[in-house]
Amino acid sequence: MKRLILFGAPGSGKGTMGDLIQRDFHLVKISTGDILRSAIQQDTAEGRRARAFMESGGLVPDKLVIELVRLRLSRGDLNGGYVMDGYPRTLAQAQALSLIASDSEKAVFIEVMEAEAVARLLSRLTCSDCGAIYNQLTKPPQKDGICDICRGRVVRRTDDTEEAVRQRFRVYAERTMPVIEYYGRKNVLARVDGGGAAAQVYLRIKGLIA
Ligand code: ADP
Ligand code: ZN
Repeated sequence: MKRLILFGAPGSGKGTMGDLIQRDFHLVKISTGDILRSAIQQDTAEGRRARAFMESGGLVPDKLVIELVRLRLSRGDLNGGYVMDGYPRTLAQAQALSLIASDSEKAVFIEVMEAEAVARLLSRLTCSDCGAIYNQLTKPPQKDGICDICRGRVVRRTDDTEEAVRQRFRVYAERTMPVIEYYGRKNVLARVDGGGAAAQVYLRIKGLIA
């Protein structure tokens, strides 16, 4: 397996699990959400195009996201394998991915109750520099508002509001569930219970991919 794809609703823990997997399995994490947020922060043309879609909880247009992923995969640093968080999210993105890089792959679908996922998102904090993920209730940064890892600013994401979260779940059900079903039919998909503490969920995932 060269490519591991993490699927799951917003708040299912894809980002947190991706960070742990990246550390322990020496895979490079590719998060389209992080790539897009950093484009916005750097005020690039791509970032300016993506911003409104993201803030409302909608999807950024396929063409733009596919191009960013194509660029990222062409960088030549992925020979040890990579883990994707947040891509593919549409059938068109899945198709594009198989054309860009036909790497052998596995996918993990992190399943979690919507109520638990929403609660996590509404108390989530994110480092605006390195993307590290915290939680007001369960995992606050050691120093209020400052990232433990890079000393960057830890903030509420602008799409972690009730309204944008509702929209993200709608889009997930309509656009991304069919992609997960497609990976199921390809027989490369494992399901894992994403409920409970991050350390517990991670143990379950480790058992699947080790
Ligand atoms: P989450 O999975 O919690 O919704 P992400 O950081 O993965 O968070 O994504 C945040 C937002 O970035 C999405 O709501 C969407 O607007 C945009 N985005 C990220 N990845 C994609 C993608 N593959 N296709 C389209 N939009 C994306
Ligand atoms: Zn940081």
